[in-house]
Amino acid sequence: MRPIDLHAHTNRSDGSLRPAALVALAKEVGLGALAVTDHDTTSGFDEASEAGRSMHVEILLGIEITARYPGRAMHLLAYGFDRREKAFVAMLEEIVRGRELRNPRILDKLAALGFPVTMAEVRAESGGDVVGRPHIAAALKKRGYVPDTKAAFTLWLKDGGPAFVAAESLEPHEVIAIVRAAGGTTVVAHPKQLRCETATAYGALVQKLAQEGLGGVEVDHPSQKPEERALFRRLAVANDLVASGGSDFHGSSKPDIRLGTGDGTIAMAYETYEALLARCPAGRG
Ligand code: AMP
Ligand code: FE
Ligand code: FE
Ligand code: ZN
Repeated sequence: MRPIDLHAHTNRSDGSLRPAALVALAKEVGLGALAVTDHDTTSGFDEASEAGRSMHVEILLGIEITARYPGRAMHLLAYGFDRREKAFVAMLEEIVRGRELRNPRILDKLAALGFPVTMAEVRAESGGDVVGRPHIAAALKKRGYVPDTKAAFTLWLKDGGPAFVAAESLEPHEVIAIVRAAGGTTVVAHPKQLRCETATAYGALVQKLAQEGLGGVEVDHPSQKPEERALFRRLAVANDLVASGGSDFHGSSKPDIRLGTGDGTIAMAYETYEALLARCPAGRG
């Protein structure tokens, strides 16, 4: 079986490649299947599946949903859901509305810091409906305020940074329930980014999410070191959750991350995807 990737972005959120180009790259690197997991939208799926049909790469429906979490956000990957289910669609609309309120507040803070950019400039950096910090970072770079987008995060936009505004969204348990009601399952993405202080705190968090109906933990992620992956794998096993993973490919906005292999340490098998589908309420795909 050829390897798969369960976590990748297109320009419908903050990746640099359009869906068809992402699929062409998947073909080039020898993936058998690819989950398109844009932030808060599934709008890249149709173009990706069409490209996948002609290039013989199976395209898996996915998404990375922004949920509420103190001081930052929790990202929940979802698979196996019906993307037309009413409450699911309403949830995404609410999240996108939250972004529309949040982005201008971030721009207000940047202007107060002496680095004004307009919403039109930010929107011009995005290829879809989901506009967020990476597009603001790109607009700041275009203005010449910073040499690269990374610097915009480090100086102003990072979680807790001087221009940071927390995302308005739903609680993780609400997202988990809505995805389940739409027939799918969720995986907590890159748990390292939740920055729990201790292994015990991570244990309590994963246990709580498992009780709320979580299906898996993203163990293999480029941002997570071997000892962190070992902890998350242990917590997945202890809570009867799928140990998942993926590259979190974004294209040129994260140039060190390769599709399929991430930082060179990611190698996911189709069985992991099947194990996730087995967690879906109706066992559907
Ligand atoms: P948003 O959903 O608008 O809060 O933007 C979150 C996205 O910004 C993440 O998915 C990453 O792609 C990117 N991001 C977050 N923090 C950083 C950082 N410190 N450096 C670079 N990119 C980041
Ligand atoms: Fe992203
Ligand atoms: Fe993420
Ligand atoms: Zn991601």
